[in-house]
Amino acid sequence: MFQYDTIVIGAGFSGAVFAREMADAGKRVLLIERRSHIGGNMFEEDSPAGVRIHKYGPHIFHTNNPRVFEYLQRFGKWFPYEHRVLGRIDGKLVPIPFNFKSVDVLFPEEKAVQLKRLLLENFGKDKRVSIYDLANHSNAEIREFGAYVLDRVFLHYTAKQWGVPIEQVDKSTINRVPVVTGYDDRYFQDEIQWMPEEGFTKIFERMLGHENITLRLGTDARTLLRLDHGTKKVFFEGVEFSGTVFFSGAIDEFLDCRHGRLPYRSVDLVFEDLDMPQFQAAAVVNYPNEEKFTRISEFKYFHQK
Ligand SMILES: Cc1cc2nc3c(=O)[nH]c(=O)nc-3n(C[C@H](O)[C@H](O)[C@H](O)COP(=O)(O)OP(=O)(O)OC[C@H]3O[C@@H](n4cnc5c(N)ncnc54)[C@H](O)[C@@H]3O)c2cc1C
Repeated sequence: MFQYDTIVIGAGFSGAVFAREMADAGKRVLLIERRSHIGGNMFEEDSPAGVRIHKYGPHIFHTNNPRVFEYLQRFGKWFPYEHRVLGRIDGKLVPIPFNFKSVDVLFPEEKAVQLKRLLLENFGKDKRVSIYDLANHSNAEIREFGAYVLDRVFLHYTAKQWGVPIEQVDKSTINRVPVVTGYDDRYFQDEIQWMPEEGFTKIFERMLGHENITLRLGTDARTLLRLDHGTKKVFFEGVEFSGTVFFSGAIDEFLDCRHGRLPYRSVDLVFEDLDMPQFQAAAVVNYPNEEKFTRISEFKYFHQK
């Protein structure tokens, strides 16, 4: 009775991959997206000066799963890209995650040598250590170092980023940015770190370019679909739909916010074209302290040279 076997809601990475997998398996897929474009948060467009930007904030691809990368290579060429971030601390630019280079830049030589020795003795080489393990360490000098990094790198940045004091942010979130006991200044440690040569949106276009996929942009799925929470049945335009429904939007909205709203944090992005070949020394520079904003990203770094 229905024209479709599968309904997918959301054309971001989750929905697009699911839609493609179902289409490859011979299913007829209806993909509903409420925005006017595919790609979800990874969508790109050109700035007025023609620089490809990530409209919803910079996205970098990294994984330790070779199958994921093999899969994505079907839809476009990729180039190796290792993401590096600097932070402006005490007027100096230092690598983030905080590592031995950051120690060298911020501390007098003798103190830096002593700190690095202590960190190696206590944690080993090239380890990624939680800021909390440093700030609560039994050794007073490591504790003092931990308190310094906590204050300069995490405290104010976290308040700006998450809008709450650091104590209210889950430790696993804070630990995403560790302190590195070595000189590896890459932001991510994953073995596979690449970026799409023609951008993410082209990857999505090819992924969704399948005869079994029908795309409906600018449509909120809630205007077409209804989930009956009692019977767990789904109705499409008023008629019961017994095929597969894949929802990749906000889980609280899926439940009609019956249990309230989740405390989402949104970002304010301001884009500017500058008439210069390069603005800053890394793709992203963090401003953890005095400034009102958290970071500046220069999108040209995400393009192949
Ligand atoms: C600023 C920022 C930076 C990030 N950086 C990275 C990064 O560097 N690397 C990384 O791996 N991840 C990053 N992420 C996370 C990244 O956005 C996600 O991993 C990825 O985009 C998730 O894809 P998704 O399909 O699950 O969700 P989304 O990309 O959010 O796609 C969901 C889609 O569903 C649509 N939708 C929702 N509800 C409905 C509805 N009712 N009807 C129709 N359509 C609907 C939305 O419009 C949206 O297009 C970042 C996120 C943000 C916000």
